[in-house]
Amino acid sequence: MEESERRRELLMRAAIAADECRKCTIGYERRNNVYGEGDPCSRLMVVGEGPGETEDELGRPFVGRAGQLLDRMLAAIGLPRTDVYICNTVKCRPTVPGPNGPRNRAPEPQEMENCRCFLDEQIEIVAPEVILALGAPAAKSFLGRDFQITKMRGRWYMGPRETPLMVTFHPAYILRQTGGEIEAVKRMVWDDLKAVRTKLDEPPPPVVTLSPACPELVEGKGEEEEALQSSLFE
Ligand code: URA
Repeated sequence: MEESERRRELLMRAAIAADECRKCTIGYERRNNVYGEGDPCSRLMVVGEGPGETEDELGRPFVGRAGQLLDRMLAAIGLPRTDVYICNTVKCRPTVPGPNGPRNRAPEPQEMENCRCFLDEQIEIVAPEVILALGAPAAKSFLGRDFQITKMRGRWYMGPRETPLMVTFHPAYILRQTGGEIEAVKRMVWDDLKAVRTKLDEPPPPVVTLSPACPELVEGKGEEEEALQSSLFE
């Protein structure tokens, strides 16, 4: 079985478990569990805060206006959406009642905590080389409640599995800017995206080869032992 197929199957099974979860009240209110989508072998994982109305309706992350901007942001660093794995800190849409129906809200820390096992599992399966967290809630879920996006974005942090983690502004935040703020925010986001591109372009860590200084590891292996060893890694 191909590696991408293997991972896709693992993600599919994990998505079924996430769909059955009712740890939070939003699990009873949402229409769809928005687990995540994209290349299961992607080198980049994008993590947003939580599904909005369109995502809840379609069961897919980042497909509304913010999602369209995210697609353009990724394209600007040479990454089609399909080459990236995209998900959120919470898989159910967090809402507050409004006069015209439920409105989006940021996920509560407890909701992010309840959903954390699903995000960790995604990171474990996809094993990205870089994680890009979008917005303060996603950043706080990785880096703690004291994270201040305006002061602390645009730097490299150590994420889960020792994965380099970059934080930038959420595309919905960019869309909310007006006047002179727009250009300033866009410039900062562009700097952060370029840093991600540069990190992805770095040569991969060297492959460790057996050193002749340990001849017992590379020499004198009988045929039987060789056959056993290779079958262990199939
Ligand atoms: N905003 C998010 O944080 N995630 C989505 O999936 C859509 C909008």
